Amino acid sequence: MLLGVIADDLTGATDVALMLAREGMRVVQTVGVPTSATEFPDTDAVVVSLKSRTNPAVEAVEWSLTACDALIKAGAKQILFKYCSTFDSTEKGNIGPVIDALMKRLGAAYTIACPAFPANGRSVFQGHLFVGSTLLSDSPMKDHPLTPMKDSNLLRVLQPQSELPVRLVPFATVENGPDAVRNAFDVLAQDGPAIGVADAVTNEHLRILGAAFAGHILLTGGSGIAIGLPDNFRKAGLLGVKVDQSVFAAPEGNSAIIAGSCSAATRGQVADAKAKGIEAFEIDPIALAENRLSASTILEWTAQRLGRKPILIYSTAEPDSVRSIQERYGRDEAGIMVERLLGDVAIGLSKLGVTRLVVAGGETSGAIVSALGISMLQIGPEIDPGVPWTLAADGKVLALALKSGNFGTPDFFTKSLEMLG
Ligand code: ADP
Repeated sequence: MLLGVIADDLTGATDVALMLAREGMRVVQTVGVPTSATEFPDTDAVVVSLKSRTNPAVEAVEWSLTACDALIKAGAKQILFKYCSTFDSTEKGNIGPVIDALMKRLGAAYTIACPAFPANGRSVFQGHLFVGSTLLSDSPMKDHPLTPMKDSNLLRVLQPQSELPVRLVPFATVENGPDAVRNAFDVLAQDGPAIGVADAVTNEHLRILGAAFAGHILLTGGSGIAIGLPDNFRKAGLLGVKVDQSVFAAPEGNSAIIAGSCSAATRGQVADAKAKGIEAFEIDPIALAENRLSASTILEWTAQRLGRKPILIYSTAEPDSVRSIQERYGRDEAGIMVERLLGDVAIGLSKLGVTRLVVAGGETSGAIVSALGISMLQIGPEIDPGVPWTLAADGKVLALALKSGNFGTPDFFTKSLEMLG
């Protein structure tokens, strides 16, 4: 193993796995915290997907360190801590606490923090994160149910989460190439360990940053920061020519879509699928909380409809509605309640012969994969930037498209299933 990646959620893990696969690495994604029984396959990169974005920071730190130790033990020469390209975190973390802990564990003098992912419109300039042409704090991320992002200044967001100094490595330095970047990080860390938030607006900037970190033990960022890493290993003679990963055969069976994301993109995708005549079941969280709705109700509805066309089950709602649910039941409690239901629904769908499943939402995907007991995913073809089809790689007959809420074109749901033929 050359590269070990620790991702703080499942769709983020799939996203970075796809990035590495496209750059020619053999990649396997594992699900959950590794245990002493976990055997990593013989491959160039392993992406460990945790569900550590929104749980208590101590837990996120413990899981990330366990994953780090397991990856290093399995031979990883470099560790990448992957988080969301919209820097999803709360005031308490978990990005800062996990970076601090990994730096200490790996003895890193410095590390980079760069969530830029230009292919999906995420860019960092003067330490400010943009989503398309708007600042993060003006984007729909300001209304995220679990990690509302109300400040675009990444230094201001990260500093309170970390005990290490957080400094800017600006655009002008990045433009000057890998040596200039390395010098900037050396200067940054001359008085002790430090974190550099690096600007990046294009893939070229990300390749420069990647090259600057050749041989360095720890990087952190969105999936974009991984773009230059395979080439580092190739230049060092450790990685062969690019591997063709396009061979992908989805199992025959029924198709379904589950949406638990309330992001603007997913709201559009739900509307698009419904407008195209996909039959849809809308989950009412109040009915769920009052025990007037359960997985079996939804599965009975589904059983009558499964067949040639996919069906859609969604809890996706507008920000006002999400806010009122959260005020009523608590933010985390509402999230967990819906995630648990969708996990149970996924188990039922699998029993009903669903073998092709599209899921919208990072936390939602984590809950569903864990309910289904899937521990390893093989990365398949790309549907949209950051979202591939995957195959459950541990004997379960299931193709999964796990989409981070904000990703994908408006027709993502129908397009992804049509891709399978
Ligand atoms: P994204 O990828 O858009 O961040 P996630 O699945 O990670 O989506 O997060 C969405 C969270 O919102 C989940 O915890 C989910 O259970 C919760 N949720 C889904 N629908 C609703 C709703 N109608 N009201 C309140 N919370 C909801």
